Amino acid sequence: MLEEAIYILKMIEEKGYKAYIVGGFVRNYLLGIESNDIDITTNATPKELREIFKKVIILSDDYGSITVMKKNVRFEITTFRKEYKYLDNRRPEKIEYIDSLEEDLKRRDFTINTICMDSKGEIIDYLNAKEDLNKKIIKTVGNANDRFEEDSLRMLRALRFSTSLNFSLSDEVINAILEKKHLLKKLSYHRKKEELDKIFTSDRALEGIKLLIDLGLDKELELKNLNKVKCTDSLIGVWAILDVIDIYPFSNHEKDMIESVQKALQINNKDPYNLYKYGLYINSVAGLIKGIPKKEIAKSYVELPITKRSDLQISSEEIMKELNKEPGPYLKNIYEEIEKEVLYKRLENKKEDILKFCKERYN
Ligand code: ATP
Ligand code: MG
Repeated sequence: MLEEAIYILKMIEEKGYKAYIVGGFVRNYLLGIESNDIDITTNATPKELREIFKKVIILSDDYGSITVMKKNVRFEITTFRKEYKYLDNRRPEKIEYIDSLEEDLKRRDFTINTICMDSKGEIIDYLNAKEDLNKKIIKTVGNANDRFEEDSLRMLRALRFSTSLNFSLSDEVINAILEKKHLLKKLSYHRKKEELDKIFTSDRALEGIKLLIDLGLDKELELKNLNKVKCTDSLIGVWAILDVIDIYPFSNHEKDMIESVQKALQINNKDPYNLYKYGLYINSVAGLIKGIPKKEIAKSYVELPITKRSDLQISSEEIMKELNKEPGPYLKNIYEEIEKEVLYKRLENKKEDILKFCKERYN
């Protein structure tokens, strides 16, 4: 990954610009942690970058940064900038492209996110951030109150980094969060959810949740059930407990899954009909939350005689013919009954047996 990044830096340098790796990748590199993507900072403007990366896939291009894909690695390349006056404690009103790396680093959130690497692999650390990295501490660049007031998302990012890296928050950061946490109410649910997802999927998610509660952020984030989350092995499971699909944004598919898990929490997850109706995944997630070993649920699942309607050795035509009836809503009821009988092994999944059952039951 580093090789690809250095290649990208050199592509930019060849055209006479400065470029450095910055942020998460350098931080993680020094900590011996892998990264998913790489942030690059440069004095080339987005327009100049588009010219340089003509032959590379450009995924997006907004807010003065472009995202390129090279050898399956995502690079977010952002122009050195100064940000002016924040609107609504989130977006800067105006940004100005500048020529100084040092100035660009000052607008960044935490010291540990300001360490850079150049195309020779040398570390550049203007803000003496390696010291904080070694001490495992999260400090804002500049005054914490001001930085959180400018952009309240930074409070959640602080908790996210503290959780995933097992770093402590500086006293100044803690005090500023306590003072400015009410500003989270104005932040978009979309941005809040992105950070929450990262906290909940961290290996140390339960510690992150404890921190959210200890600092009183559960109330500001409208997560009244946060103290009920005891297992974070499934993200869908966490959101099912939190029960906030009407306020936080989810895709329809996620909403369906969350609602199914909520229903599955109320039922016996090893029952054949429940397993058939909600499937292995949903029941396993509910099982995780309730502490039922996944193996037990999987064992009951593999013993199911059918896992979908088309597994039944019968068709609607055959049922209608047997009962001498036209199509109608009654078919749905018959199917459900046949499924139940087969699942509870009171009826064999054989055409003759099913037809005989239909006849006895519905004629
Ligand atoms: P990750 O490992 O999640 O990618 P990251 O530190 O790289 O962590 P990004 O969201 O990719 O985080 O942002 C890249 C860099 O941009 C950060 O390291 C930080 O320097 C800066 N940054 C990101 N978001 C903010 C913000 N809200 N305020 C100030 N600086 C920010
Ligand atoms: Mg990053």
